[in-house]
Amino acid sequence: MPSPSSPLLLRRLTLVTVTGFAAALTLLLGFAVWAAHNVDEEARRTETAFVVSGLNTILDRVATEQESITIWDDAVVKTRQRDQVWMTENIGQWVGDYFGHDEVYVLDQHNVPIHAMLDGETVSPELFNKRAASILPLAQQLRDDIASSQDTAIGELGAADTVMFGETVARVSVKPIVPFGTAMVVDRGQEYLHVSLRRVDGDVLEEIERTFRISGLQSSAERPATGPLVPVANTNGRILSFLTWTPNRPGANLIAQAIPGTVAAGGLGGALLAFLLMRLRRSATNLLASEAHTRFLAFHDTLTGLPNRALLDDRLDRSLAGARETGGSVALHLLDVDRFKLINDTLGHATGDAVIRLVGLRLAGAMKSTDTVARLGGDEFAIVQTGVSTITDAEAAARRLLDLFKDPLEVEGARLTLTGSIGVVVTLAAENSREEMLRKADIALYEAKARGRACYAIFDGDMDDVVKRRRMIEDELGLALEVGSQVKLVYQPVFAADGKWIVGAEALVRWDHPTHGRMSPDLFIGIAEERGLIGRLGDYVLREAAEFARRTELPWVAVNVSPLQFRDPKFAESVLDTLEEVGLPPRRLQLEITEGVLLENAVLVETALRRLRAAGIRIALDDFGTGYSSMNYLRRYSIDKLKIDQSFIAELGTSADADALVRSMIGLARSLRLVVTAEGVETTDQLHHLASLGCHEMQGFLLSEPIPGERLLDLIRQPDVTKELLLSA
Ligand code: C2E
Ligand code: CA
Ligand code: CA
Repeated sequence: MPSPSSPLLLRRLTLVTVTGFAAALTLLLGFAVWAAHNVDEEARRTETAFVVSGLNTILDRVATEQESITIWDDAVVKTRQRDQVWMTENIGQWVGDYFGHDEVYVLDQHNVPIHAMLDGETVSPELFNKRAASILPLAQQLRDDIASSQDTAIGELGAADTVMFGETVARVSVKPIVPFGTAMVVDRGQEYLHVSLRRVDGDVLEEIERTFRISGLQSSAERPATGPLVPVANTNGRILSFLTWTPNRPGANLIAQAIPGTVAAGGLGGALLAFLLMRLRRSATNLLASEAHTRFLAFHDTLTGLPNRALLDDRLDRSLAGARETGGSVALHLLDVDRFKLINDTLGHATGDAVIRLVGLRLAGAMKSTDTVARLGGDEFAIVQTGVSTITDAEAAARRLLDLFKDPLEVEGARLTLTGSIGVVVTLAAENSREEMLRKADIALYEAKARGRACYAIFDGDMDDVVKRRRMIEDELGLALEVGSQVKLVYQPVFAADGKWIVGAEALVRWDHPTHGRMSPDLFIGIAEERGLIGRLGDYVLREAAEFARRTELPWVAVNVSPLQFRDPKFAESVLDTLEEVGLPPRRLQLEITEGVLLENAVLVETALRRLRAAGIRIALDDFGTGYSSMNYLRRYSIDKLKIDQSFIAELGTSADADALVRSMIGLARSLRLVVTAEGVETTDQLHHLASLGCHEMQGFLLSEPIPGERLLDLIRQPDVTKELLLSA
């Protein structure tokens, strides 16, 4: 049974692959993004740490930088002297230029500003008042620390905080101005103070950027919505501002850099996948197709592509079931190509196959699509005809099928004219089973062949008797040959062209069956051949005919020889032995062979024919025109006589074509210096026509039917018939 899941499987497979690829891609991208994000996060953390540490370093450094001047004897002296020039050079500008402090103040022991520097320029100390609120608490804190410190080295003390001046965040650091050593002493609580202010902007941010490779570092009062940030808080933890920057995103950069490559790779991967999928799809389709093909093969004949026996059975069953339902009828035609075996054996199997294929094509083309044309094997076809209402319908179809053989088949450059035989069974009211129908159609076919082929026969009840008879023949022929008395020969005289003088006689076998009566050789020769009895039958006929001939004054007797007899390599010898035993000179024996013999086993046949002819036996080519005679055969095998088949004689006078055909056969025979005999001469018109065409010998019911030997002897004894012929023999 076909697997219905295959297309579904394919769809699933495609889905799974596409989904898989998408998932893998998504996963990969996800991982890349995740990894990039992680890298970026790490970078952000690092940058944040840099910014924090950078800022702290710079701001905490302010105090240390102050110490380069606040722990200095000169500074103690000069500030107390309120030397503005000195203070400008050594306190304000120095820390401004060298350390980048933005504002510097010098406060006396009462926290009164005595010097001020703003952005490297000495300004009015009044500027301090603007800052006082932020700076004085620190100054006070420092003085408290100094007061409470037991240590003498108060130069290291200091107070600092990050403060806000309007929009500006700045580090404010306050240090006492003290002597370096012990040489100079300043009373406790009398210290002047140095205030440095470093704004968190401009150069501070630049320095952090430069040192830590941070870009876009900014200070903003508002907390930014996105991006990295470092809050700038005072010592109480109050956030004064935020530092933000443009984060370095190595992961994102990497991805951005990788995107073209990734896209290309992804595209390539996708294309590869698509290609693979297509391949998969195609091979899956092929698989499906081959599965369908296998299924097709299971129900079809490989040679013709027609339904085979299995499908025929199925269709026939269905048709019968349908007919039973509707009360309609079904016709079954069994068709056999006549003498097909000969084509196969002689022209080769390739030609045989071509013939079968062509016949199959023609048959299929001649029937309705609802009908079934099947090949059962060999040269046998079966046609299920539906929609049959009367036997006439079936007969019309059978005739149509037979007519298909009228046009010659063109096979490998050759034109073969074939015929077919058809057995038909019609089930009216569909009472038959499939097996019954096939059996009956087979019987009808057998009957059609028995009627001389190239016709159809409709099964009727009597035909069952035919089958029974065939079985009987199969069973009893062997015994009849042993007993001998049932198998007899009759002789049909062959006349000269004038139809008066007997020139010879053809021996024809008969079987007188005790219950079935006289049987024609057409009924049992075939069976004898099938059953391997033809050799014995042939020997019997030859001996009988030879003995008869010896007893008569007949110039010759002709004996029919089956092609199968030539398969015996000793055939020629056994014929000659029989003649010797009987005492009949070989010149008085003619062997009638059919064209099939010539095509059989060339070497074997040629050798046998040579041997026979060399001994004086003459060879007649029987049924000339029905087989595949070619000039080659006629020239190659030495033959003495052509017997034009009776079917051509029957057509004589009915059409110009038929006349031309016979004329050319006679012409051919004469040109090859062969004797030419016409078989089946039934009318005087035929006789005269043939005589006028130059035909040498006549045979047929007009002149004499096949008759028992004794009667032939009587005929010969009539003085006007044979005298001169006997002399000329
Ligand atoms: P065939 O060799 O072509 O023999 C001629 C057949 O035509 C004979 O049929 C004969 O009765 C019949 N016939 C003769 N004149 C006429 C006529 O005017 N009109 C018609 N319609 N038929 C005529 P028969 O005796 O039934 O033999 C049939 C075939 O059986 C022979 O055809 C021959 O092929 C075969 N046969 C007969 N005897 C033997 C035999 O002893 N051995 C072998 N191998 N085959 C034989
Ligand atoms: Ca014959
Ligand atoms: Ca014949």
